Amino acid sequence: MKDIILTGDRPTGNLHLGHYVGSVKNRIKIQNTVDYDKFYIMIADTQALTDNHDNVSKVRNNIIQVAIDYISAGIDPSKVNIFIQSMVPELAEITTYFMNLVTVSRLQRNPTIKEELKQRNFEKSLPIGFLNYPVSQAADILAFGSTIVPVGEDQLPMIEQTREIINSFNYTYSPKEKIFNEPKAYLSEEKICQRLPGLDGKLKMSKSAGNAIYLCDDSKTVKEKIMSAYTDPNHIKVSDPGQIEGNVVFSYLDAFCQDEHFEKYLPEFSSLDDLKNHYRMGGVGDVKVKNFLYQIIEELLTPMRVRREECLRNIDKIYQMLFDNSKKVSKEARKTLEKMKTAMGLNYKQIFTASEDEKNYEINKNKKNIIKAKTF
Ligand code: ATP
Ligand code: MG
Repeated sequence: MKDIILTGDRPTGNLHLGHYVGSVKNRIKIQNTVDYDKFYIMIADTQALTDNHDNVSKVRNNIIQVAIDYISAGIDPSKVNIFIQSMVPELAEITTYFMNLVTVSRLQRNPTIKEELKQRNFEKSLPIGFLNYPVSQAADILAFGSTIVPVGEDQLPMIEQTREIINSFNYTYSPKEKIFNEPKAYLSEEKICQRLPGLDGKLKMSKSAGNAIYLCDDSKTVKEKIMSAYTDPNHIKVSDPGQIEGNVVFSYLDAFCQDEHFEKYLPEFSSLDDLKNHYRMGGVGDVKVKNFLYQIIEELLTPMRVRREECLRNIDKIYQMLFDNSKKVSKEARKTLEKMKTAMGLNYKQIFTASEDEKNYEINKNKKNIIKAKTF
C-alpha cells in the first residue's frame, strides 16, 4: 500500500522559519520524491478558533496567507490537496465520536497541551474546544487514512493520542475489521529543526509567541530581527569567549547553514565547526555571525518572494482551488465516517432504506440479540 500523507497548520498568522524546517521542507521533499497515494494539507481554521473564538476575522484572513505561504515555499497544488478544515464538516462529526474514547485527565496530561496552557494563561476559562484539539487532530488524520504525518516535535503527543484512539475504537466497535491505518510522524532528521527556537531564545518559534522570522518578511525586517536575536549575554567585546549553547544565532546556523555558504559568504572560516571553535575562544563578533546568517536566510527567502508575487496576481485561482479541494476531500472523509458509523451500529440509513427481506433479517438479528441479552 502506498502512503497517504496529511499535515496542516493553524491560520493564526503567516508561516515562519520554524514551520519551514520543522514540516514544510519535508512536505516538499515528499511531494517531489516519494511515490505516495494521496497528499493532503489542511488549513486548520476550526482548530485555530479553539483559542481565537472571538477573533474569527484573524483566522479567516490568514487562510489565504497560509495558502500563499505554501505555494511560495514550494508546495505544488497540482500534487497536493490543500483544503480548509471547516469546509469538511465530516471532521467535526468524527471528532464527536472520538471524544467519548478519551478522558479529560488524559488530555490534561498531554505535554504539548500542558505547555500551551501555560503560555495562554487560560486559568479557569479554558475552552473545552482547546483541551479537545488533540482529539479533533486525530479525526483529521484518520478521516483520510493517513499513514505519514510530517510535523514538528511538539506534535508527537498528538500522534500518540491518535494511536490510542484507534485502539480504543477498534476494541469498542470493530475488533475484527481494521478501519484505521496507524499513522507515523515524519520528523526532520536534525534535532534543531524539529523544534526551532524563537528569536528570544526562550520558547519554540511560534506565531502566538511573536518571536518568529516569517517566510514573507522583507529583507529589512529579516535583518532587523536577526540583529535583535538572543546570543550570549556575556559575550560583550569581540575578544570575549562566547557560548554556543542556547545562542539562537548558532541554533539557526545549525538548521540552515551548509558548507558551501562559507565559500560564498564567510571564506575566512572553513565550516560551522571552525566558526564555532573561534567564537568559543573569543575574537569573533556577534555582528559578523549575524550578517552571515542573514545572507543564508536571504538566499532561502528570495525565490519565495518571487513566487509570492506570482501568487498575489492569482489570488482568485487560489481561493477557487481551496474551495474545490475542500468539497472533494469532504466526500472522501464521508466514506470513512460511514464506515465508522456502520461499525458503531449507527447505520440507520442503511437499515431504514433496506428491502423488506433485509429489514426482516435486521429485526430477527435484533430479536436474537435481545433474547441473548435477556438470557444473561
Ligand atoms: P500557534 O502559535 O498558533 O500554535 P505555531 O507557530 O505553533 O502556531 P502551528 O500551526 O501550530 O504553528 O504548527 C504547524 C506545524 O508546524 C506543526 O507540525 C508544528 O509542529 C510545526 N512547527 C511549528 N513551530 C515549529 C518550530 N518552531 N519548529 C519546528 N516545527 C514547528
Ligand atoms: Mg502550534
